[in-house]
Amino acid sequence: MLTAVITGGAGFLGSYLCDRFLAAGMRVVAVDNLCTGRRRNLEHLASNPNFSFLRHDICEPIPIAGAVDYVLNFASPASPPDYLRLPLETLMVGALGARSALELAREKGARFLHASTSECYGDPLVNPQNENYWGNVNPIGQRSVYDEAKRFAEALTMAYHREHQVATRLARIFNTYGPRMRLDDGRALPTFMAQALRGEPLTVYGDGSQTRSFQYVDDLIEGVWRLLHSDEVTPVNIGNPEEVSMLAFAREIIELTGSKSEIVFQPLPPDDPKLRCPDIAKARRILDWEPRVQRREGLQRTVEYFQREATR
Ligand code: UDP
Repeated sequence: MLTAVITGGAGFLGSYLCDRFLAAGMRVVAVDNLCTGRRRNLEHLASNPNFSFLRHDICEPIPIAGAVDYVLNFASPASPPDYLRLPLETLMVGALGARSALELAREKGARFLHASTSECYGDPLVNPQNENYWGNVNPIGQRSVYDEAKRFAEALTMAYHREHQVATRLARIFNTYGPRMRLDDGRALPTFMAQALRGEPLTVYGDGSQTRSFQYVDDLIEGVWRLLHSDEVTPVNIGNPEEVSMLAFAREIIELTGSKSEIVFQPLPPDDPKLRCPDIAKARRILDWEPRVQRREGLQRTVEYFQREATR
């Protein structure tokens, strides 16, 4: 039986990976210090004999006995308010945490996949962003704790590949949504959903002309799965190229939820990327992958979850 270690396993994305690897007949060890992850994302797996949970900060070496075949490194705060609240933890998990995960993969001869991010492109000067674009990141701005940590982790991953011949993969993940997101994680989608469902004004930052491209979680998990099983060592964008302005998005959520909420404008946070849209030609070519779930459909699938969360 193959074994996968999933760091950040109690997080939004990590928990779906646990489901996917268990469904494929593997043993799964989820590792998480629960600084932003939640036990309830894994509650449904508690009685699964192939699943175990290790509460552990991966900045320390990761103690796993026995064979490991895959290491998926998904541990990090990921929402801007979370990483602004946890700046040092975010930097350290990107550096020391990534090193622990890579060391585990090296020691066990496991295949390694790192959850990188579209934030590597910073506030991009090209649109859409393809993997050859080196990005436009402010190295000392508020967001740098996340952006630079993720960029460092990419560099570390490539160094482990070159120096130690670890079989590494880099997924550059664009904005992803779906059930199990924290309603209060501060990101636009859960915030707008919560506001719309509670009849409160939707807080659009800046003039709302900045764009994002949202992918449904099932598409992301499929892309990550295919990348892990491919031979591609260099980064691959995994995202949905359907781009929308934040103002149009807020209106879409009001309409979808049938809310009477208004829209209010608040200051744009520093270094907020003005554009974000993945060029997924590489994923299409190498992984034969593209998103299947349209935003409208994905939001409909998600709204029920948010309705339950908003009234908890
Ligand atoms: N945003 C917004 N209102 C909010 C939260 C976020 O207008 O209540 C904006 C934010 O400034 C950014 C976009 O929505 O331009 C997406 O932000 P999010 O926090 O979801 O993640 P990001 O893509 O910036 O990492």
